[in-house]
Amino acid sequence: MDSLVRATLLVRRLARKGLGLLATCVLAAWVIAGGAAAPLGPVPVLAAVAWAVFLGKRLRAKLRLTGDAPFLLDFELGALLAVGLDAALLRFDGTLSGRFSPATYVLVALVASFGRPVAGLAVVGWVVILDALIRYKTLGEASLEALATQAGFATAFALLNLLLLRAEVARIRVTARARVERELERLREDARSYRLLGAGEAAAKKEDAEERLARSSVEEIHQSVHYALELLRRSLDLHTAVLLWRTDSGTHLRISELSTASDEIHDAPFSIGDGVCAAVIAKKEAVLLENLRPSYKVPYYAGPCPIRALAAIPVVEDGVVRGVLALDRVESKPFTPHEHDLAAQAARYCLRAIQNERVFVQLERAKVEQGKLYRAAQALGAALSERDVVEAGVRAAREIASFDLAAVTVWDEGTRMHEVCAATSNGGEIDALVGQRFKQNTGLVSMVVTNRFPLPYKGEYDAAHQMVLTKRLAWPAVPSLLVLPLLHHNRVLGTLILGARRRHAFGDTVRPTLEVLASHLAVSLSNARMVHKLETMATTDGMTGLLNKRAMLDAAAQKVAAAHRFSRKLSVLVTDIDWFKKVNDTYGHDVGDLVIKGLGDILKRVKRTTDVVARFGGEEFVVLCEQTDEQGALLLGERIRDELSKTVFHTPNGPLSVTCSVGVATFPVAGEKWDDLFKAADEALYASKRGGRDRVSIFVPSPASVARVKSA
Ligand code: GH3
Ligand code: MG
Ligand code: MG
Repeated sequence: MDSLVRATLLVRRLARKGLGLLATCVLAAWVIAGGAAAPLGPVPVLAAVAWAVFLGKRLRAKLRLTGDAPFLLDFELGALLAVGLDAALLRFDGTLSGRFSPATYVLVALVASFGRPVAGLAVVGWVVILDALIRYKTLGEASLEALATQAGFATAFALLNLLLLRAEVARIRVTARARVERELERLREDARSYRLLGAGEAAAKKEDAEERLARSSVEEIHQSVHYALELLRRSLDLHTAVLLWRTDSGTHLRISELSTASDEIHDAPFSIGDGVCAAVIAKKEAVLLENLRPSYKVPYYAGPCPIRALAAIPVVEDGVVRGVLALDRVESKPFTPHEHDLAAQAARYCLRAIQNERVFVQLERAKVEQGKLYRAAQALGAALSERDVVEAGVRAAREIASFDLAAVTVWDEGTRMHEVCAATSNGGEIDALVGQRFKQNTGLVSMVVTNRFPLPYKGEYDAAHQMVLTKRLAWPAVPSLLVLPLLHHNRVLGTLILGARRRHAFGDTVRPTLEVLASHLAVSLSNARMVHKLETMATTDGMTGLLNKRAMLDAAAQKVAAAHRFSRKLSVLVTDIDWFKKVNDTYGHDVGDLVIKGLGDILKRVKRTTDVVARFGGEEFVVLCEQTDEQGALLLGERIRDELSKTVFHTPNGPLSVTCSVGVATFPVAGEKWDDLFKAADEALYASKRGGRDRVSIFVPSPASVARVKSA
């Protein structure tokens, strides 16, 4: 059934797709059969209407499409037009070689221009076959000569159109793209020469926000300066008022903006040593010239000098001539001191326009950077574990600079060792570094930890002469690298290492922000460590490193619940050192502590991984053993007792050996709640004490209450 439906759908789809083609073929057959030349009647009218309907549908579909049309659509259009044309030629000329026969070439050229190239060629094939059939069948022409001429011309027209038109379109596209690129490059160059963008900055990511900001500022500068120049030109009756600005390299001057009545402007950079500008730049003073001859070379005019008077005013910033404001006149009317003063003011105005935009860009940049740092601080603040902090830090760094490799190392002052605690890279090249430890050496990470300054200088990495971690732990040879210290209260916690495959990835615009981020990261890292320490302190016993009473109670509640749920046995052992007061009294508290630690070590050694051991208070310990019955717990208790009795503690007053007593209670026989269970184990412990100590007792819920099991 399913396949039947599918087959039906397929047939319907094919029918819908092939309907146009089928109709074209039927119409073509009708024309070949001589239908077009037949006397006017209902059939030719019907055929003409059907032809017009199909053509209209296909044309509408083609016009609606924005990109390339499918092959079938282009072919159907061409084939329908060819059938229509041949029918018209037959009807009105009675032949295919009449006055209007060249219309076929127009049709072929049309399809080749507007359709896909393959469809164009297929239409040529269709036209030739249709012509051949009409000539042979309808017109009874036996000679191939006319057909060959027709076919040759049709192919030539189609190919010529295809080649010429498409080549022209491609050429126009290339020139348009090149022009757009040139304009963009010019804007970038302007932005750099006005100090709105740093060197190499715009090349990194062409369409980033930074570049857009700089571009809009360049536009602002051009508008303000153009306004001033226009005003000057009109009020001082000038031929040209032009602001020439030094290129980024400083070796050339270029037209930054101008207002002119001339068509002969030469808009290309020229050396700062050329003509009048050289004098202005060298003397840092205005130069006023008059009675100029046509042979005089003014660098911003293409042909002979059209002007007679010229005023060139330096635009000075921080003692350096950054540009030249040039004003000129066609009449030999020298510039008056008042005009000179006005021009100097205009020069200052132009400089201020540039400076204002520079400040604006800096403010915008600072706003963006602050936003990034704010978000970073929030993410870092929310991260509580060391791992989360490192992840949030690397994520935040990605917002500030684009890099391919990132790693974080932590520095342990106690062991004087570095450890790579995180590493991420696009290709996974440094993933294996995580967990690697290394000693202080002459590598960049060690140097950053020692000197507390980011390295390497300018963020450029030379893999041949510099080492990042150690020789063994190789860092990929990327051109850009930055190792930042993670500083908190003047203490170095580690480093943040960033690497990029492109040059100048960590320029002056991102470094300060990354340094601030690194300090945020350090603070959060320190907080995460503190949180971890507090958590550990809250759950562990400082002397033995085992769980404390509170943590044990939490664990006990979980274990009892699990034992209930899965109907499993759960044994509790309580140990207590015998005559411990005497140990303290005879050997002192320090020795007492040593003994407590010794028993703690024994418990750590003998416990299974699923057992929970805690110091419950004083010299008492509790062991929780999952899935363990009385006999299993008894064996463990015996082992603890045995190990302790065999341990010799070396004290200033000679060797010391102690024993302990143990009480055992098992869920559910001894109790179904933790309190009952613990009480039962305690009772068993007291039975051991009463029975002479140095032994293990099991709680038995009989009238006698506790049965003592003698130790071996
Ligand atoms: P028993 O055989 O009946 O257990 O006799 P005991 O002397 O061991 O008596 P008990 O268990 O009541 O003694 C506990 C002693 O442990 C009291 C206290 O002086 C000592 N103690 C408790 N905590 C510490 C500690 O942290 N360090 C040291 N050195 N002694 C401790
Ligand atoms: Mg005790
Ligand atoms: Mg005791």
